[in-house]
Amino acid sequence: MRGIAAVPSYVVMQPTTLCNLDCAYCYLPHRAADRRMPVAVAEAVAAAVTPWVARGRFSVVWHGGEPLAAGREHLAALIAAFPAGVEHHVQTNATLIDDAWCAFFAAHGVRVSVSVDGPAARNGDRVTRAGRPAYDRIVRGVAALRRHGLPFSALAVVSRPTPGLATELYDYFLDLGCDVLGLNIEETEGVNTRSNAHDAAAVTAFWAELVAAWRRAPRVHLREVEWSLRYAAAVLDGAEGDLLPRQLDPIPTIGYDGSVTVLSPELAGFSDARYGDFSSGNVLATPLAEILAGAAGTDWVGEFLTGVEACRSSCPYFGFCGGGHAANRYFEQGRFDGTETEHCRNSKIRLLEGVLEHARDHESPAR
Ligand code: SF4
Repeated sequence: MRGIAAVPSYVVMQPTTLCNLDCAYCYLPHRAADRRMPVAVAEAVAAAVTPWVARGRFSVVWHGGEPLAAGREHLAALIAAFPAGVEHHVQTNATLIDDAWCAFFAAHGVRVSVSVDGPAARNGDRVTRAGRPAYDRIVRGVAALRRHGLPFSALAVVSRPTPGLATELYDYFLDLGCDVLGLNIEETEGVNTRSNAHDAAAVTAFWAELVAAWRRAPRVHLREVEWSLRYAAAVLDGAEGDLLPRQLDPIPTIGYDGSVTVLSPELAGFSDARYGDFSSGNVLATPLAEILAGAAGTDWVGEFLTGVEACRSSCPYFGFCGGGHAANRYFEQGRFDGTETEHCRNSKIRLLEGVLEHARDHESPAR
């Protein structure tokens, strides 16, 4: 894996900067402002995407702010710009989902991913703008999805891995009815400056416990565990070199105003005296394909690629991780060419160690 691919497998679109919640760990800088994406931005992205869709599977991920805060009419106008065959996804806090939104998702073939951190007591950081718990509204939204028979994924943030939590969360999400689950250990990112340094053994034990919970009832696709098992299987087959893509997916994030930030959606909307606003161009001025073709020339991107090469030559986990995420480097280290971050320790190194710890503790030796 070297350099950045010219064609992404998906784009992230910000239909509005606004979010109706004010979660304590949120990284977004402008979530109180309703800056909406003009349809012309979606049309410019769609023009680039059309030939990519013809080559195979391609997704558009609507991600805010809270994308549903853009309203159905506006989101429909943005979606309408894209050709048939694009898979639309929405990452939502679920609080606005009702029967009308469910009909919208069904009509537009939108796949829903819900952000919820587990049972009510685990959602203390997810609050409204008035500081009130958002949990009841979240579960009302999820209930609407279930009533309409719409499949959904779930994404949970884990702020402090403690014994018993992994089992509690897995059982909760089994009951919730999601078919895919991703668990993120909270990240120090954007305007969230809370520390994400944890005791190594506690994080490893969290992941090991999660594997054990999943193995008892493997009815949910558990993103992190499936990645790890795929990697372990490839190592056993001597094929781990084939797992990483040949080049990094540029994952362009299209800001509400058409600005393009590659590699890390979390950098969109920020600026730095050294790196500027992190954008590689604007789709209203330059075709997206052209922006991506030149993205490796953006100063901070070149520095990040240097960091990826440093990871490759120094880290035994590189084959699993591929060199981490740009935003974690920047927000933890203030630059892009470092290697280990707290994020990669929590979510790559200790994840893999946890899966292996579970295997060591639960598998009988071969006879
Ligand atoms: S685990 Fe950390 S140090 Fe290792 S390759 Fe990934 S980002 Fe780099």
